[in-house]
Amino acid sequence: MQTKLTKNRISKKAASFTESVIREMTREAVKYGAVNLGQGFPDFAAPEDIKQKAQEAIAADHNQYAITWGVKSFRDAIVEKTKWFLNLDVDAETEITVTCGSTEGMIAGMMATVDAGEEVVVFEPFYENYAPDAILSDAVPVHVPLYQTSDGWHFEKEELRAAFNERTKAIIICNPNNPTGKVFSREELEFIADLCKEFDAICFTDEIYEHIIYDLGFEDRKLKTEDQRPKHICMAQIDGMRERTVVVNSLSKTYSVTGWRVGYVIALPDITSAIRKVHDFLTVGAANPLQHAGAYALGLPESYYAELQSEYQSKRDFIVPVLQAAGFKCEMPQGAYYVMTDISDFGFKDDIEFTKHLIREIGVAVVPGSSFYHDKSLGSQKVRFCFCKKDETLAAAAERLQKIKSKI
Ligand code: GLN
Repeated sequence: MQTKLTKNRISKKAASFTESVIREMTREAVKYGAVNLGQGFPDFAAPEDIKQKAQEAIAADHNQYAITWGVKSFRDAIVEKTKWFLNLDVDAETEITVTCGSTEGMIAGMMATVDAGEEVVVFEPFYENYAPDAILSDAVPVHVPLYQTSDGWHFEKEELRAAFNERTKAIIICNPNNPTGKVFSREELEFIADLCKEFDAICFTDEIYEHIIYDLGFEDRKLKTEDQRPKHICMAQIDGMRERTVVVNSLSKTYSVTGWRVGYVIALPDITSAIRKVHDFLTVGAANPLQHAGAYALGLPESYYAELQSEYQSKRDFIVPVLQAAGFKCEMPQGAYYVMTDISDFGFKDDIEFTKHLIREIGVAVVPGSSFYHDKSLGSQKVRFCFCKKDETLAAAAERLQKIKSKI
């Protein structure tokens, strides 16, 4: 007997968002043999010593479930690192949850804190995961635009203030920012902090690019006074914000191991306890041996971060002029490893058509700008390039991009 299917087999939540466009672009790049400047992952080798530690951890049989909220030595390393880098005291027993990447950290954090119908403020353009994160946690996203000017991306204070009200549960920031490369200044963070305090809201801060900030040598930071240093400031460092900030971080970008899926969340004990419950039933835990390797990675000396920063700075300094010469309008990003570009001079209907052309005819994959906006029309003349790639990959992309004007 044939059964009749009368019910919707797909939930309204799952039906209301698409698969990741960023990840789809990687599949397209492979299909058409394009140089992949789309999805933000390194195409160079992860550090040998970190890989070695992971192999040793497997050999030493750290192969069963770790403690749900994270291997003790890894949580201890997070405490140490957070102390020297951010000068914040964190308790390994009650304030840290190790997650399957920052992706799980963010969604577990939101599911643990947000009730249906509560509002979450999101700057736009935003990293595409935050939209499904809001849907899956039943949050109502409220978008506040970031405007591009010749000295970077900025928000209008009045627009941000107008986005807050008594239903506001949280704001999400990504700092340094994906996709714009914006680094939030102390003044901006303080303005956001004051709103969080006034409206009793939480700040989720995605900090995965904390070490990828340009125009400063790591040595310079040490020599200059606090005010002179153009350095990364974490929202949890702002007065009164430690108790209302959920810091989401990961090994992925800082140690070039995006496939390991090891992240962590730092929050006060009441929030951490809720996050740990959600995390437990979503995933049980992150990969045990990789957390052991993470304990080693977080203990690397400051010189490691100085080198990482300077390598990305030289990649940025190479690719941005190449893009400008090819006809993309863009500015130097202040942090992270992306460049949002304006494509309006190429005369394409929209970013999707342009991206198809770029992948298939020119051989370079990017991410269409619309995937970073809730109103797709806002990103329809933008595409995002990433430059966390080998120098030869960037050089190959540069060569291909020279053809762009003649092929339109
Ligand atoms: N954060 C990276 C990006 O924006 C990779 C995202 C992902 O695929 N997890 O491209």
